[in-house]
Amino acid sequence: MAEIYLFNSLTRKKEVFTPIASPEVGIYACGPTVYDFSHIGHMRRYVGDDILRNTLKLKGYKIKYVMNITDVGHLSSDADTGEDKIEKAAKKSGKSAWDIAKFFENDFFSSAKALNIAKPDIVCKATEHIKEQIEMIQEIEKNGFTYKTEDGIYFDTSKLYDYGKLSGGKEGIRPGARIDVAGKRHPTDFALWKFSPKDSKRQMEWESPWGTGFPGWHIECSAMSRKYLGEVFDIHTGGVDHIAIHHTNEIAQSEGATGKEPVRLWIHHEFLQIDGGKMAKSLGNTYRLHDVVKKGFDPLALRYLFLTAHYKDPLNFTWDSLGAAQTSLEKLRLQVLTLKEQEKRSALSTEKNEKIETYREDFTSALYDDLNTPKALAIFWEMLKSNIPSPDKYDLAISFDEALGLGLKEAVVEKVKVPGKVQKLIDERERLREQGKFEEADKVRKEIEEEGFVLEDTPDGSKVKPQ
Ligand code: AMP
Ligand code: ZN
Repeated sequence: MAEIYLFNSLTRKKEVFTPIASPEVGIYACGPTVYDFSHIGHMRRYVGDDILRNTLKLKGYKIKYVMNITDVGHLSSDADTGEDKIEKAAKKSGKSAWDIAKFFENDFFSSAKALNIAKPDIVCKATEHIKEQIEMIQEIEKNGFTYKTEDGIYFDTSKLYDYGKLSGGKEGIRPGARIDVAGKRHPTDFALWKFSPKDSKRQMEWESPWGTGFPGWHIECSAMSRKYLGEVFDIHTGGVDHIAIHHTNEIAQSEGATGKEPVRLWIHHEFLQIDGGKMAKSLGNTYRLHDVVKKGFDPLALRYLFLTAHYKDPLNFTWDSLGAAQTSLEKLRLQVLTLKEQEKRSALSTEKNEKIETYREDFTSALYDDLNTPKALAIFWEMLKSNIPSPDKYDLAISFDEALGLGLKEAVVEKVKVPGKVQKLIDERERLREQGKFEEADKVRKEIEEEGFVLEDTPDGSKVKPQ
């Protein structure tokens, strides 16, 4: 059977994917920092991981998918300055830092569920793995990669000859890259452990061999990925924003502790954009799933929209594009339901059998080729238009959807709506007919057909079904 090819950010090449211990595949995903509501940009990134998992399952692999929850230590600058995002949100709302983290973690998983994103096999929180993080810092210290400042324990990036290999030399470049913390030796050095400021009223702080404080943002991922997946594991995923700092530092920490390159294959998802620019919590230009639902859209229309772009291409979000995705999803649901209700299975000719196999192979090959979901969707539509018998089309549709996750099997008649635009045309045609304007009514019928629906006039009025 065909191989799976995935683009590895570390080698900057598409590579054949071979697990370390087939059929098991270990994946670590950087999870959300839970200080605010999740937005639809986050959802794009985790739908991408969901497609990755489903594709690997198609090949028969058994996945262990681990996701962290950052509930401490992520400072507002992404580096080592600024306030802890969760402590800041707690202060603002008058709630405890723990309550803030739990509330927004729940919000994240409820949005993910509505988008059919499978729950991780393991969800691990930074605050519940302080011991593991301290132990790892001690190993890094023992190997001579750390130094102490007034502010905390730092990683000396100059001691790793290939620090920055993930970003191709663009590591740690951030606006005005400079030494922003007193005593820091190089701009790219980063905190492993931060001391609680003397006058601080931090809610989240722990004792450590170096003093009371809290872990730096990056160490949680190195410590928890090692705990749950081992020193070297198959795949690590994240958004492209993590390449230059967070993931570069994760590699440095793991290598500093174990001397081993921790991850075989790095996958980075491109951003969901808005007005052609970044959509981010910190920029305040985000939409939540809540906004999508409030406007009458189905959360799975958003999933459909995400699948129309390759995960390595930026996708610009507009309400119009979401509307078009919803129309396509509704058509797809109607077609699949109609197939389900159609003729009984009959004997297949060799030619039709071959055609079914070709569609199956083409669909799988699209996903095996670095998760090419736009191509997989195109093959799906082509298959639906083909002349293979309905029951076989239905079976193929359901098996394709096991990878795409659009909930087609669960779609029930009540859930299937005629797209708004088509419904308007139906009403318009009824009105024209009532007024005896049959020629104009016929023109509208043609427009309905161009939208992919056929009209049937019944004693109960006009009904449509997909072509
Ligand atoms: P955060 O909670 O900001 O740390 O983000 C959680 C994950 O979502 C990270 O892997 C980010 O790279 C990713 N992410 C954040 N914003 C976007 C966006 N607009 N589009 C896609 N992914 C994003
Ligand atoms: Zn991480």
